[in-house]
Parts: sequence; C-alpha cells; structure tokens
Amino acid sequence: MSDTAATAAIPNNLEAFWMPFTANRQFKKAPRMFVGAKDMHYTTADGRQVLDGTAGLWCCNAGHGRPRIVEAVQKQVAEMDYAPAFQMGHPRAFELAARLAALLPSPLDHVFFTGSGSESVDTALKIAIAYQRAIGQGSRTRLIGRERGYHGVGFGGISVGGIVNNRKHFGTMLGGVDHIRHTHDPARNAFTRGQPDNGAEFAEDLIKVIQLHDASTIAAVIVEPVAGSTGVLIPPKGYLKRLREICDQHGILLIFDEVITGFGRLGTGFATEYFDVVPDLITTAKGITSGVIPMGAVFCSSKIYDAFMTGPEHMIELFHGYTYSAHPVACAAALGTLDTYEEEGLLTRASELASYWEDAVHSLKDCPKVIDVRNLGLIGAIELEPIAGEPTKRAFSAFLKAYEDGLLIRTTGDIIALSPPLIISKAQIDELFGKLRTVLQSNI
Ligand code: PMP
Repeated sequence: MSDTAATAAIPNNLEAFWMPFTANRQFKKAPRMFVGAKDMHYTTADGRQVLDGTAGLWCCNAGHGRPRIVEAVQKQVAEMDYAPAFQMGHPRAFELAARLAALLPSPLDHVFFTGSGSESVDTALKIAIAYQRAIGQGSRTRLIGRERGYHGVGFGGISVGGIVNNRKHFGTMLGGVDHIRHTHDPARNAFTRGQPDNGAEFAEDLIKVIQLHDASTIAAVIVEPVAGSTGVLIPPKGYLKRLREICDQHGILLIFDEVITGFGRLGTGFATEYFDVVPDLITTAKGITSGVIPMGAVFCSSKIYDAFMTGPEHMIELFHGYTYSAHPVACAAALGTLDTYEEEGLLTRASELASYWEDAVHSLKDCPKVIDVRNLGLIGAIELEPIAGEPTKRAFSAFLKAYEDGLLIRTTGDIIALSPPLIISKAQIDELFGKLRTVLQSNI
C-alpha cells in the first residue's frame, strides 16, 4: 500500500463512531485499523499483515475473502436485495433451512432465522417459554443460566448471562432468572489437555435450583457447551450429559448456545455432535455466514415445532421475528459458506488439527506469568497471572504487543483466547505460537 493510501485510511473524525466493547478514549489516542482481509490475514492501515488468531470475533471460520461467499453475495444483491419473511417467502431461506437442518442430529429439524447471536438467544428463550405454554405448562416461565455465561447483549441474554461487567450498568434484569455455578475449577483442572476429568458434579446445582423453585416453574436452562467470550471454559467430562438427564427428568428444556461452537469449531458441525448430547434448542450465528453478513439462527426440535403447528389455535403463529430474519443476502452468504465448508472439509478440519493445536497451545505453559492453559478443538486459552490491583492489564498489553508483531489475539480479563479460521495451516499454527511466545517472554 502506498503511503498516501495508508494515511488516507485513518479517518479525521474518530468521535462520530461510538465503538462497541471498546474503551473509546484509550483507542482514539492510538487507533488500530484494518483495511483489508484475505484468507488468514488482515491488512492494517499502515500496510502490515496481521495473522488472524481469532477468526475475527470467532466468526470467520472459512477465513477471509473466500470466493464462493463473495460471488454468492454479489449475485444475490443484484438479483433480489431484500424480501420480507413475514407472510412471504423466498426459496433461498427454505433451501438454507433444509441444508442446516441436515447438519444437525434429528430431531433438531427446524430453523428460525435471526440477525445475530444476541437475537438468537432472545428468540430461543421466548420460544422455550411459549412452548411450555403451548403444551399447557404456562407456569413454567423461569429461566436458568450460569455464572460467567455469555449469551449476547440483549436484555434476555444479559439476564441469563453471568458476566458481571455486562450487567452492572443496566439496572433491573429480566425477572425469574437463576444462575448455577460455572464449571471452571483451576485448583483441580489447571493445565488439563482437552476436557477436564473433574467437575461433572457441578450439574447437580440444577437440582438445588429445582428444589428451591419447583420444576413446575422452570421453562429452560441455557448453557454454552464450551464458553468462549468469558475466557474459554471447557466442560468437564460427563457434565453436559448430566444436565440433559436432569432436564429430562423434570420437563425442563435444554438450550445450547452454540454461537461460537457451531460450524466446525470443535471438528464437528456442532458441539451437540462432539459431546453426544442433544439439546431441545440451539442458538447460533457467526460461522453461519463465516461472519460475512450478519445472521443468526435457532434450531428447534420437532417436539417444540410440532407443539406450535398442532397446538392451540391462538399459538399457531409465533408473534416474534425480525425485519432481517432470513434476509436473502444473508441466506446467499450462508449457502456460499456451507458450500465452502463442504468442499474444503472445514467442518471436520479442527479434529484433524486438534492434537497439533493442543501441543502448540500447551507449549506455552512454561512462559512467565502463565497460570493455566486450556484447549478443545481449534480453541485455546492462556490465562495470565493478573497484575495486583490492575486486572486485565497484563493480557491487554499482550494483545497490543501481538498486534504490533502481526498477530490478532483476543483477551477477556487476563485470559488470551485463540480461535483461528479453520483453514489455518500447521505452518501458520507454528507462526502464531512463535509470535505469542515472544510476546509472553517480553516484559508484559
Ligand atoms: N452467545 C455466545 C455464546 C456468544 O459467544 C456470542 C458472541 N460472542 C453471542 C451469544 C452474541 O452474539 P452477537 O454478538 O452476534 O449478538
């Protein structure tokens, strides 16, 4: 890139855009800008290549600038830019729903489209409550989430979510919500490779909540099979199966929030397959279009869908949906993305790379200030010892150094999270961890 183009890429007015999840004051003193993206790399405004260690925000699973997706989007915009999904259909939405349903175990055969992960979460929570009502269980309105859970930023999502910072500024949350403990247990499980052996008993927390409120008041439990945004928490062996058993015994729906685990992150289409536990509803987004166009989806079991289709007359229409539900351009992007995943075997690629990746993540365990290392599929986390009185500072300084050194990582608290595009090569895995080792060995 020429010097002129590089300079032109930093806009004069940095104040008009109020940036999300960003300390605006700090950022605007020293802005970092991406101006291009191709395959595994971003290009910065000053013309440097940055290796994408996080698939954007856990979404660009097929990498960047992939031709099938680009062509599908361009063609769709020219052919039909928009069509409503209320009382009208367009063929691509039905084609996409059928292809997605085929990726999931039966009975998860039905798809409700949304515009994002947060919308998917609110949709799933609403469907869960409405379903209970449709089958004559209207007293079941209570929702159960987990401490440290991340379920997007809608009021439903932050209510069932458990990240304190995401809740504390926003007043009263949704009523009738409880949280069970998270499974993170560093005293027993630090430096575990893959799923920890200890901690399935955390699922018994759900029994306590049931005893407290009575099952007849509880509609659903929502969990991330692998929690990402809260700092990569891997479920202990047996934990998710036990949650499923308890839900079955008590007529409670189980929702898996697969916004980050969907679309190949663990080496299977979805985490449901990886853990061999089938929930009643799955929320997803991100990898559905490889991040190219905003889109989300909720997968529903036939039990739920049929309850509306054959249930009481006044419930046949679900009074819920978005202007951009099943947006034609998003549907085209998703179809192009599925083609790319299928042609390149990307949905199983994480399983082929998993042991190489695991060795690479754990090779950092002896670096200074590292207090835990975790991994599953193509996900990794390196937890750093916080600086006394300045939590988050050490990991953020690692983020800044990595960026200067041509590597994009993501940090949450003092945890570095890694989730590269599924097209990453072994040589690029070596490059990623080589750069990260240098960062961790520097004075952060
Ligand atoms: N649920 C989970 C598990 C997520 O990781 C995210 C996003 N990181 C969301 C929901 C929210 O998705 P979005 O940002 O698309 O609203």
